[in-house]
Amino acid sequence: MNITDQIYSDENKAREHLESIQWPNGPVCPHCGNVDPERITKLQGKSTRPGVFKCKECRKPFSVTVGTVMERSKIPLTKWLAAMHLMTAGKKGVSAHQLHRMLGVTYESAWFLAHRLRAAMAPANPTDANGMGGPNEVVEVDETYVGGRAKNRAFKEPSPKKAVVSLIERDGRVASFHVANVTAKTLRPIIVKHASRKSTLMTDEAPVYVGVGKEFAAHRTVNHSANEYVKTGGYVHTNTAEGFFSVLKRGIIGTYHHVSEAHLERYLAEFDFRHNTRTKLGFSDAQRAAKALEGIRGKRLTYRRANEAANA
Ligand SMILES: [Zn+2]
Repeated sequence: MNITDQIYSDENKAREHLESIQWPNGPVCPHCGNVDPERITKLQGKSTRPGVFKCKECRKPFSVTVGTVMERSKIPLTKWLAAMHLMTAGKKGVSAHQLHRMLGVTYESAWFLAHRLRAAMAPANPTDANGMGGPNEVVEVDETYVGGRAKNRAFKEPSPKKAVVSLIERDGRVASFHVANVTAKTLRPIIVKHASRKSTLMTDEAPVYVGVGKEFAAHRTVNHSANEYVKTGGYVHTNTAEGFFSVLKRGIIGTYHHVSEAHLERYLAEFDFRHNTRTKLGFSDAQRAAKALEGIRGKRLTYRRANEAANA
């Protein structure tokens, strides 16, 4: 990241940056939704914290972090923004240990901060992935297994590997889901919900895809022989999904070591977000971080217990 940018060192600049992302058309009261600039006053004076507004409709004070994952945090906004930049700039993400060292916050703070920012990266609406593919478009669907290593765990029994299924457009978006098991029954609802049936479905030859494949305009299956690949001009493959899985697995094993069942969905949201805002799709590092910061509002977080940090 460009550490000379003042949003990473000056708390006022950090707050203004966040305000410009959250309130592109001026302040919005998070309590009552009032947007009338005539009915919102910026509080000023020596006894007032900077960045506090008062709504004349509901008479409540607010700042840009009210109703966001940063609400009531004691961590300075400069560090929140730096953390978001670090988490979105690299392909693999950063661990809570790295954030702890780089930002000079406690490990526990780094862990909570990272999970809150991961929640910000998750789609606001779970149906955001609707309509992947379309006429003459390919949607690859493939499954993989993550986790399961005993490394860095307090108890030595290996946890079972967790199944992940991803839908991925070629040169486009990805949507990943944790599934309890890989069966036609668990995969079908996910596939038909998120991919346009006008697409060509591209999978391996696993029987779990046979039924759902019939619901699509076409279903091509990968025969893992070089001959078949050549015969179809390189069209029939799931290499896009395999490439994404390789980033996901290297990231999870290399950066996070162990991912608990409860947090896997959030890690998937993080890896999906980076893929969907990658440089090839026109995002700079700064634009990617800003895009992630758009999602800080309205994310409910239910994992505040400190003892969970031990299982991160
Ligand atoms: Zn209000």
